[in-house]
Amino acid sequence: MSMPFQYDVTDHHDVQAIKKAIANKLMYTIGKDPIAAQPKDWLDATFLTVRDQMVERWMQTTRAQYSQDVKRVYYLSMEFLIGRALSNALLALDMESTVRAALDEMGIDYDDLVHMEPDAALGNGGLGRLAACFLDSMATLGIPGMGYGIRYQFGMFKQRIIEGRQVEVPDTWLGSVNILDFPRDEVCYRVRFGGRLELDGKKTRWIDTQNDVLAVAHDVIIPGFDTTATNTLRLWTARSTREINLSKFNEGDYFSAVAEKNISENVSRVLYPDDSTYSGKELRLRQEYFFVAASVQDIIHRYRMTHDNLDHLADKVAIHLNDTHPVLAIPELMRVLLDEAGYEWDEAWAITSKVFSYTNHTLMSEALETWPVDMLGHLLPRHLKIIFDINDMFLKEVAAKFPGNTDLLRSVSLIEEHGDRKVRMAYLAVVASHTINGVSALHSDLMVESIFADLAKIFPERFTNVTNGVTPRRWLALANPQLSNLIDREIGQTWRVRLNELAELKSHIDFPKFVQDFREAKHANKERLAKYVARNLGGVINPDSLFDVQVKRIHEYKRQLLNVLHVITRYNRILRDPDAKIQPRVVVFAGKAASAYKMAKLVIQLINDVGIKINNDSRVGDKLKVVFIPNYSVSLAEIIIPAADLSEQISTAGTEASGTGNMKFGLNGALTIGTLDGANVEMLDAVGADNIFIFGNTTEEVNALRRNGYNPRAIYEGNSELREVLNQLANGFFSPQDPERYRVIFDVLVNWGDHYQLLADYESYIATQDKVDALYAKPDEWAKKAILNVAGMGHFSSDRTIAEYAEKIWHTTPVKL
Ligand SMILES: *Cc1c(COP(=O)(O)O)cnc(C)c1O
Repeated sequence: MSMPFQYDVTDHHDVQAIKKAIANKLMYTIGKDPIAAQPKDWLDATFLTVRDQMVERWMQTTRAQYSQDVKRVYYLSMEFLIGRALSNALLALDMESTVRAALDEMGIDYDDLVHMEPDAALGNGGLGRLAACFLDSMATLGIPGMGYGIRYQFGMFKQRIIEGRQVEVPDTWLGSVNILDFPRDEVCYRVRFGGRLELDGKKTRWIDTQNDVLAVAHDVIIPGFDTTATNTLRLWTARSTREINLSKFNEGDYFSAVAEKNISENVSRVLYPDDSTYSGKELRLRQEYFFVAASVQDIIHRYRMTHDNLDHLADKVAIHLNDTHPVLAIPELMRVLLDEAGYEWDEAWAITSKVFSYTNHTLMSEALETWPVDMLGHLLPRHLKIIFDINDMFLKEVAAKFPGNTDLLRSVSLIEEHGDRKVRMAYLAVVASHTINGVSALHSDLMVESIFADLAKIFPERFTNVTNGVTPRRWLALANPQLSNLIDREIGQTWRVRLNELAELKSHIDFPKFVQDFREAKHANKERLAKYVARNLGGVINPDSLFDVQVKRIHEYKRQLLNVLHVITRYNRILRDPDAKIQPRVVVFAGKAASAYKMAKLVIQLINDVGIKINNDSRVGDKLKVVFIPNYSVSLAEIIIPAADLSEQISTAGTEASGTGNMKFGLNGALTIGTLDGANVEMLDAVGADNIFIFGNTTEEVNALRRNGYNPRAIYEGNSELREVLNQLANGFFSPQDPERYRVIFDVLVNWGDHYQLLADYESYIATQDKVDALYAKPDEWAKKAILNVAGMGHFSSDRTIAEYAEKIWHTTPVKL
C-alpha cells in the first residue's frame, strides 16, 4: 500500500504490473469480469491504465509551470482534429511494447484494440489537424501551452457513399470515448447573450442578458513525446443555467420544460461541417462567443491566482487566434478590462494589443468572416460597441498618419459599409494583434499584397510568415512503423524529435540494400491499403500498380475534377490503343464535401460513376482502377498516405494557403505532382526540382488570365483529347441512366468561365503525368527519388513551426522539468 500523498504509479515498462493494472481497471472501474468483458471494455481499461501514467507527468508539468511563473500560450481554435489518442499516448510514453505484451498475455490483440477507438473528429480538415499537430509539438518541446476549443457533441459527420453519392451520418463519438477527458464541473463560467447597454456616467453596463449559458470545462491530456512535459486541451461544453424550467414542469408541461435547456445547450451540439466557406449563421456566432468568453475568463482567472492586477498580463499570457473564428476574444478581453477590472480605454487597449497574435489561413473571399452589424448588435451589444470604439480610435490614427486619404479610411475600416453593414473579423484581428502570420512563404507574400495590402501599409512590421508543419510522431512513427524501423536502422531514432536528421538519408540512396528495403516497406504499406479496400469496399487493387492518391476535403479550388479529367483521358487512351504498353495505376480519392456544397458533392458522384465504368470494363483490367474510399479521417489518412507513390497537390496556384497533406506524403516517401501553390513551393526547394513533378500556371499567370480575359472554350476546342473527355461528361457517357447529370460540370468548365482554370492547366498536367509513368517504369530511380523526398522533409516538422512561433511571436521558453 502507498503512503498518503505519495504517488502509486505502476512502472510503465513492467509487463506484469501493467497487466495487473488493466485487469484492476476492468474489474473495479468498468465493473466487468474479464470472462465477460467485451472488446470495448478492454479498450477502456487499457485507456484508463495509460491515462494514470499520463496524469502523474501532467501534474508535475503543471506544478513546474506555476512555480516558474512561466509565460503561457493559449491556442484558441474552433477545431482540433486529434484522431485516436491511445496509440499516440503509448508512443509518447514508450509503452507500446509493454502494453502489447500485457494484453497478449490476457488473450487480447493489441492492434485490434487500438483500431477500435473512434477518432475524436472535432474539426473539418487542415486547420483542425494543424491545431492538433501544434499541441503535440508544444508538449514535446515543453512550451507551456494550452489549447482551448469546443467539445462538440457531434463532431465531423461520418461519410457514407450510397449509390455513388455522399450521405452524411451523425458522428456520435462521445458515446464511446468519454474516457479521454476529465470533466471539470467546478471549472464553469457564465456566458451571456443579448440584453442591452446602460450608460452609467463614463461606464457602460451590459444588462438584461437572455439565454445565458454555462461553459463547463473538459480537460484532455496532451502528452509530449519522450518527455515529462504534458499539456492540456481544455474543451468547453454548454450547460443550461437552469436545468429545467420548474414552473412549467410543475404545470405538467414536461416537453417545454426541457426545451429551454436544450436550446441553450445547442451551442456545443455540433461542429459546422463547412471547410473554406463562411456561412453567417447566428448559431455559429454564438459558438464563437461561447468558447472565447469561457476561455478568456479562464485565462484571467488563472493569471489572477498569482498576480494582483492585470497591468502586466502580456508578460505571462499570449493568446493565439487560429483564423478569425476566435476573434471575439479581442473585444471580450477589452470588455473584461474596461467593465470588470475598471481600466481606462487607453490602458485596456495597451494591454490587449500586446496579448494577441493571429494566423490567417485563406485569401479566398468566400472564406472571410464578416458578421452583420445587426446580428452582432443583437447578440452581443457590448462587443459591437467596443468594436465601434476600436474602429474610431484606429481610423483617427490612420487619418493622422495619412491625412486626406479617405479611400484608405474606407478600405481599412473594420466596418464594411456598402450594402448591409458588416464587421470584418480579419481586419479586427490585424488591428488588435501584434503579429499576423501566413502559413507558407507564398501565402504570406500574397496576404500582404492582396487582402491586407492597405493594412500592411499602416502596420508593415506586424506581418510575418511561419510555414506549417506536421508532427513526425503521428505521421511517420505511428502511421508507418515499417519505414520508421528502416530509418532507425539507417540513422538512429532521434529523427522523431529532430526531423532534420532525415537529411542523412540522402547519401544512403547509394546503398542497394537500403533502396531495396525501402521499396519493400512501400509495397507492404500498399498491401495494407489493398487489404483495407478489399475488406471495406470489396474491390481488388493490385499493389504492383502505381498508387496515385488525392485525399483531402473535396473543394473546387483543390481541383479533384482536374484529376478526374486525367483519369478519363487515360481511360480513353487505353481504349484507343489496347496494345500500348501502359503503366498500371490505381487512382485513389477520399474526402468529404460540405453538406451544402452541391458542386463538391457532384464531383464525389462523378468519381464514383467514373470508377464504376472503368473498374468494370474488361478491356481495362489492371491498367486503371479508380477507388473512392469513404469517410476520410485522421485514422484513414494514417493507412492511405504511407501507401501512396504519387501525391496529388494540384490546387489552382494562389488558392491553397499551405497544405499539410503534401508534407505527410513526402514524409512517407511519395513523390508530389503539384502546382506552385502553398507549401509546394518550399517542398520544391527542399527536395530539388529533379525529385518533384511541378506543372501548370504560376500565381502570376493565373492572375494575368483573370485580368486579361481567359477563354476556356478556346482551350476546349483546341485540344482533341480534352474535347473528348468534356463531351463524355456533357452527353452522359458516365451516367447513361441520367444523361444530364454532369452537364453542369461541362458548363462550369467550358461556358461559365472555369473559375479555377482547370482547362488552362490540363495540357501541362497530362504531359507531367506521362513523365510520372516514365519514371515509375524505372523502379530503382523512382525509389531513390522517393527516399530523397523523405530526406528533404526535415523542415516540415511542426516542431520547427512551433519553435518559430515561440521565438518570433509568443516569446515563450520551455518549462524546466
Ligand atoms: C492533413 C489532413 C488534412 C489536410 O490535408 P490537405 O491536403 O492539406 O488539404 C485534412 N484532413 C485530414 C484528416 C488530414 O489528416
